[in-house]
Amino acid sequence: MAEILPQENALDAASRLLVTGEPVAIPTETVYGLAADATNGEAVARIFEAKGRPRFNPLIAHVADVNMAQRIAHFSPLAQRLAEAFWPGPLTLVLPQRDASGIHPLVTAGLDTIALRCPQGFGREVIARLGRPLAAPSANISGRVTGTTAQAVDAALGDRIKLIVDGGPTRVGLESTIVKVAEDGIVLLRPGGLAVEEIERAAGAPVKRGARGVQAPGMLASHYAPQAGIRLDIDEILPGEALLAFGPDRARGAAQAVLTLNLSPAADLREAAANLFSYLSKLDASGAKTIAVEPVPRHGLGEAINDRLARAAAPRD
Ligand code: AMP
Ligand code: MG
Repeated sequence: MAEILPQENALDAASRLLVTGEPVAIPTETVYGLAADATNGEAVARIFEAKGRPRFNPLIAHVADVNMAQRIAHFSPLAQRLAEAFWPGPLTLVLPQRDASGIHPLVTAGLDTIALRCPQGFGREVIARLGRPLAAPSANISGRVTGTTAQAVDAALGDRIKLIVDGGPTRVGLESTIVKVAEDGIVLLRPGGLAVEEIERAAGAPVKRGARGVQAPGMLASHYAPQAGIRLDIDEILPGEALLAFGPDRARGAAQAVLTLNLSPAADLREAAANLFSYLSKLDASGAKTIAVEPVPRHGLGEAINDRLARAAAPRD
């Protein structure tokens, strides 16, 4: 069962768990977040595991201030203006990610953009204490109502995590507003706790609406497609293929693979989730025409791993 600590006494305990890769439920001004070290793949995998998310959609990385955000993403003057106007607060900016951002690819689901927000209150304090960004989706079971009290979080996730920090009912009670800031202007990706009119006033420019769906990266079937073709659930390697392996036993002909990377030699799904995005791109970079993928079990995090692999294998236009 999760321990529930009032936020006044929780900073030490929360930081201690977070540095060891444990997820912790924390209050922010929008909703409660299930937070984990955004630089640690296994920590981020634990978020998906606890929430029971069936797919790896990109998460928001939370920062302590604009400085921390600028080490992670490229800020245009417009993005800078929005951050200065609304942070800390319920506005998430989707921006081009820096190469050396330190963010684990499981946070962005392998995208080259990143969603960043600076929250108010306890969340911000604990991030400043750690000196690292935290990935944090809402602290609820996937597909269920979002938690705005520590009690609601406890009812949903109490048997899956170690600590819930109680900051009382959240002030805004709605998720953050997400905008993408691009060369050609600002696009609304998700309405939320900050009114679009306020963003337009600060930006001195209109916010384009109606782009939802197009911008939900996890929903595009072939979005994650590498250059190479993908063959799933294989039991034999064909000449010229690279191999994405799983577990202790190898498919037939594995020795002739152009390159082999094993998601988890010990068949640990959490380790496999943490390695998935970087291994796919490394195998793709090997120049092999096809990446052959050994079967990965479909339970627990295996569901999201298989969802991701199926998208990578989907026909492209
Ligand atoms: P949640 O963490 O549950 O509040 O959801 C995060 C939202 O941010 C999801 O709707 C994601 O699709 C969206 N998101 C996160 N990163 C990106 C990105 N790089 N580009 C577009 N949308 C993103
Ligand atoms: Mg949510």
